Amino acid sequence: MQETLSALLQLQELDRDIFRAQTELKRLPAERNVRKAEIEKRQTRLAEVRHEAKQVRVRIKEIEDLSTQHRQRIRKVENEAAGSRQDMALLVAYQHEIRTLKKEISTSEEEGVQLVEKAEGLDAQAAALQAEIDKELALFADFAGNVDREFAAAEKRLKGLQDQRKARMSSKVPPEALSLYTRLLSAREGVAIAHLDGRTCQGCFMEIPTNMVVRVNRGVELVQCPSCDRILHNPR
Ligand SMILES: [Zn+2]
Repeated sequence: MQETLSALLQLQELDRDIFRAQTELKRLPAERNVRKAEIEKRQTRLAEVRHEAKQVRVRIKEIEDLSTQHRQRIRKVENEAAGSRQDMALLVAYQHEIRTLKKEISTSEEEGVQLVEKAEGLDAQAAALQAEIDKELALFADFAGNVDREFAAAEKRLKGLQDQRKARMSSKVPPEALSLYTRLLSAREGVAIAHLDGRTCQGCFMEIPTNMVVRVNRGVELVQCPSCDRILHNPR
């Protein structure tokens, strides 16, 4: 069993770093995606603001067109009124229509002024968003470059470690011991074997019973820490 343990210890020397490299390889693209999603959220918001500004301008144009039509109608009615000075009833009707049209123009113009202000506010908002996005995109380009470099470095490191691991892999390790070790590696963040310091497991810093220390020292079986499950090893 000492042979098994020392073969596993050989692997453990590499496996913590392998686990770290693998974690990096997962973390880096995930971080990049989070940053990218944040920028995309702002880009969506910018598109919404621009769309709203466009809608407001369409409405302003409609109001302007309507006011033009009203003014034309007023001129027409004024001409007709001038030609029918004798007919009081008709004259009153014309004057009423002119007043109504003028009132509508005035109301529309008020609305128009408000809408122009709104459109300008939206333009300002869009410009600010665009500036933020440009800044973030520049930062993101740097960040993504770093991520690529770190990713490539982690991949290279991992490849080197895995090659070393292959060379160290001993056929003398019984399959059950290897599968226990492998399971613990992933369950315990790359550390399947814990050193003992006196009675204290250096994996979880809990004390183990004395008889267990004796069993570890005897070295005829793999002994697991009762609290973190790691395989215990006494370096002494
Ligand atoms: Zn432990």
